[in-house]
Amino acid sequence: MEANLEGGCTCGQIRYRLIGTPLIVHACHCHWCQRETGTAHALNALYEADRVVHTAGEPELVATPSASGKGQKIARCPTCRVAVWSNYPQAGPAVRFVRVGTMDDPNHCPPDIHIFTSSKQSWVTLPPGARTVPEFYDLDAVWSAESQERRRQMRAKAQQAKSG
Ligand SMILES: [Zn+2]
Ligand SMILES: [Zn+2]
Repeated sequence: MEANLEGGCTCGQIRYRLIGTPLIVHACHCHWCQRETGTAHALNALYEADRVVHTAGEPELVATPSASGKGQKIARCPTCRVAVWSNYPQAGPAVRFVRVGTMDDPNHCPPDIHIFTSSKQSWVTLPPGARTVPEFYDLDAVWSAESQERRRQMRAKAQQAKSG
């Protein structure tokens, strides 16, 4: 995978650059993602917030209900309203779920894992050998060693920010 992928919204007001590779890429087949994308599944590349650099424009954070009941924040272009990334309460603002379809070349981020396949649309056939879970998974068992280390650093930073 190449470093520093770029992307943006449809009208071009929002542009972003991604530093390095994603922590993990989720294809989420839950009904909520199906409704929010209007299609079969969401495709989200997870990045630390400081690795998602806005190079043009600032998205508007729209509070949106989520399956957990805690709500999520979807970052949308203020003009064309296309969603470029979102925050979920579990991971908080530290992690941005970047919508892979908004990247200039989405081919760089195929899913590492298919989640919530229990609600997958029946016509969707997953590639042989694809990693799948009926709902969610244990991060310690699935994330690469490098991503776990980045997660550890992220937590340490968050702790520092709290105590500082
Ligand atoms: Zn736009
Ligand atoms: Zn989902």
